Amino acid sequence: MRRTARTLCLAAALAVPCTLPAQPTGLPSMGAASGDALSPPVERLLGDAIMEQGRHDPTYIADLDINQYLTGLGRSLAAHAPQALEQRITVFPVRDPQINAFAMPGGYIGINSGLVVAAQSESELAAVLAHEIGHVMQRHIARGISQQSQGTGILVASMVGALLAALAGQGDLAMGVATFGQAAAIDRQLGFSRSAEQEADRAGLQMMRRAGFDPRGMIEMFRRLMNASRLNEGQGGGYASTHPLSIQRMSDIENRVRELAPQAHADSADFWFSRVRLGLIQSRSNADRQRMVLNLRADATQATGVRRAAALYGLAWLDWQAKDTAAAGRQLAEARQAGAAPLLDILAIQLERAQGGDALEAAAAAWRRWPRSQGVAMAYAQALQAAGRDAEVVDFLQDRVRQWPAVPDFQKPLADSLERIGRKVEAREAMARYHEGTGALATAVELLQQARTLSTDFYEQSRIDTRIRGLREELDTRRALLERFKS
Ligand SMILES: [Zn+2]
Repeated sequence: MRRTARTLCLAAALAVPCTLPAQPTGLPSMGAASGDALSPPVERLLGDAIMEQGRHDPTYIADLDINQYLTGLGRSLAAHAPQALEQRITVFPVRDPQINAFAMPGGYIGINSGLVVAAQSESELAAVLAHEIGHVMQRHIARGISQQSQGTGILVASMVGALLAALAGQGDLAMGVATFGQAAAIDRQLGFSRSAEQEADRAGLQMMRRAGFDPRGMIEMFRRLMNASRLNEGQGGGYASTHPLSIQRMSDIENRVRELAPQAHADSADFWFSRVRLGLIQSRSNADRQRMVLNLRADATQATGVRRAAALYGLAWLDWQAKDTAAAGRQLAEARQAGAAPLLDILAIQLERAQGGDALEAAAAAWRRWPRSQGVAMAYAQALQAAGRDAEVVDFLQDRVRQWPAVPDFQKPLADSLERIGRKVEAREAMARYHEGTGALATAVELLQQARTLSTDFYEQSRIDTRIRGLREELDTRRALLERFKS
């Protein structure tokens, strides 16, 4: 945690690093009056604000395919939750080799790259994710924040103050965040009681099973987490005090799993490819890379099917990075015989480009093959842009925005292409939608005002006016929610 940058420290302050030792704080039982203190809309608002900052953090991994996979996995688990969730689940990867995951306000769940890399099956990953969703379902985060000690109360108040200032267009949200991060270091993070952890384990186990994963994955992941904590004892500290707690949780889950029939689960290609991709993103030093190569080579010779294809992908990617396109091409061809995945086709596009081949044709073929892959859609848009076909990019990306309205990433290249073909008003409107989608409403209003000034068309102007009004109303609503929360 200490190694992550400022904003994710903030996130961690409001998050539940439940795989790390937690101080029992004694949450009230479900339905206690304090549960109302942080209403779902305020909780979402806090989560959105943290994410708005978190997106700029160097440890935040902005990878469309991995985000799409993790969020899809999270939502398929949440669909089987024993109780309805008040927050929509969004899962994002964080570049951090430590095996950890955390739930934040608003249904946001961060998964460290190290955790995905350590998982030896998709059921293990699903186990951690399901446990985090269990916390969201039980509203542990909202209740934890609203009934925390005085210290956390001050932290949340200063956070809310910073958000209010940012909404009013005064001051820098990041400054408020830094203050918050410092205060968080004193108070430590929210910790959950033993019973809260057990509730999340049990809800998670149900979700896993109903979603078709192997319940034994939870035990296996638990063992991995305990071993990792033991190894980190020197740096992290405090493990010994909570060790018995983990043993107790472990035996509770073991007893429950023992009563269940084992359930074989065929791991998806997305799991193995995301795991390799996150391993590559995480490996920064030469030593890391060398270890990664050894692991990939072992999988390429010993594993079968999509796991082997993913390992070969990793080796091909490393060759491509080392500018050995011939070797990369050979590994890629072998990977394609072993399995299929969007990441293989994206690498094929990159290799074509590196070799001066027809990257656009490769991209078009990839898009025909993977019409539900956000990463492939982005690669195709980039290939069209590289070929100077901006008018086509605009049509293509406008369709993608309709296909995935909650993904703001497509708005940026859309704005670039609109700008290049002289549709400057629409370019600013697209950028406004990008900022709106990431939670930066004040910036969105500024961009719309610029668009309004550039426009000479009456209908366009009134359309923009309507959007500005809508955003201002939303800003007022948020302000009112925060003011109420502050008092
Ligand atoms: Zn937990």
